[in-house]
Amino acid sequence: MHAEKQSLNPYEMALQQFEEAAEKLGLSEDMRELLRQPKRELAVNFPVRLDNGHIKIFTGYRVQHNVNRGPAKGGIRYGPDVTLDEVKALAMWMTWKCAVVGIPFGGAKGGVICDPKKMSPGELERLTRRFATEISIVMGPHSDIPAPDINTNPQIMAWIMDTYSMHGGYSIPAVVTGKPLSIGGSEGRNDATATGVLFVTRRAAQRAGISLKGARVSIQGYGNAGAIAARLFHNEGCKIVAVSDTRGGIYNGAGLDPSVVLRHKQERGSVTAFAQADKISAQEVLEVPCDILIPAAVEGVINISNAERVQARIVAEAANGPTTPGADKLLFARGIEVVPDILANAGGVTVSYFEWVQDLQSFFWGVEEITQKLEVIMNRAFDAVAEEAERYSCDLRLGANMLAIARVAEATQVRGIYP
Ligand code: NAD
Repeated sequence: MHAEKQSLNPYEMALQQFEEAAEKLGLSEDMRELLRQPKRELAVNFPVRLDNGHIKIFTGYRVQHNVNRGPAKGGIRYGPDVTLDEVKALAMWMTWKCAVVGIPFGGAKGGVICDPKKMSPGELERLTRRFATEISIVMGPHSDIPAPDINTNPQIMAWIMDTYSMHGGYSIPAVVTGKPLSIGGSEGRNDATATGVLFVTRRAAQRAGISLKGARVSIQGYGNAGAIAARLFHNEGCKIVAVSDTRGGIYNGAGLDPSVVLRHKQERGSVTAFAQADKISAQEVLEVPCDILIPAAVEGVINISNAERVQARIVAEAANGPTTPGADKLLFARGIEVVPDILANAGGVTVSYFEWVQDLQSFFWGVEEITQKLEVIMNRAFDAVAEEAERYSCDLRLGANMLAIARVAEATQVRGIYP
């Protein structure tokens, strides 16, 4: 357990997954060298005036991994535990994710080390506007387009859009996605990540002969990805038996009502305030008896120390990097199907792509069109990944990575090395 825990650096995890796929693809050492490293890593230390009048220096990052298939795309995360290696891993995963669903973006990610729960709205706005200014040397509607991630939301995207537009002298909505509808956001973007998780889980369940009607679902994390997945899976006829957030989890074998749980979280700050359920630990939510487990929080939570206790038949990764390579092997050996992050949560970046296209052409689509187009893309990607996994007798993660890495390698190869 400790050996893997200590090496649970997300970037090492991403590299390990990359090496395995590159090996199986027979990629040349030159190409591997090229794809291992991010193209750009920007670190910024910047001052923000706090409400008490003092100045605090914050550190933030923006990493672009590979942009051979199109502009860099990826979320911005706020949190006390953000590290450069985490952002590098997430940027690499974004490259593969965009390739696996076939949308014309490269991968990027950003993060700021801060504790947003301890900051006032004014402090968060000043931090966001200053960080947006600091990274504007690499950010832009045709170069690098951020989006929401952990602890960031449409309001924060609006501040980024406004800050960038103020510098440009006119409105530039396409610089960021996940914005409010009133300033060029897209219908369906808020639900997109969870909607995509539902689409691919339907496919995986079909393949495994599991009916979603009455299927028991356990979800770790109750934010954009997790809470909306709870609502959508509940509407699909699933029974949401357990959910959790940073403070712990709740379990009710008869099923929870996700909207009532959400109201409790909004009013009382945590799902654990919900009375009609048993309290369980944040860890136990991963181990309760269920058919579908949806990790929708942070990296590395399913690892060799608990993978043997996972009781689900399908793990649908709404979060990025929730399962370590060691745990992947254990789950595969036990016949548990893991729908990997770069496929399962790609609905978010896919509708972000729709938002970007709509902003660039100033022509907006209805939610039906968005959902329909998303479903086509997610189903097509799932089928291609499943086919790849069958061809190579491997799990879906390796199948997805091979498909994606081959596409990025081809784009890199055909563009050639400059100069
Ligand atoms: P969010 O901030 O809206 O929600 C995160 C949730 O996870 C919160 O409920 C928080 O309490 C919980 N959480 C955090 N750490 C936890 C821990 N250690 N144990 C249990 N719960 C914990 O963030 P989000 O946008 O929902 O992102 C969640 C995951 O989904 C991340 O891995 C993110 O990269 C991934 N993702 C998000 C999007 C998107 O569009 N928002 C798209 C693709 C992938």
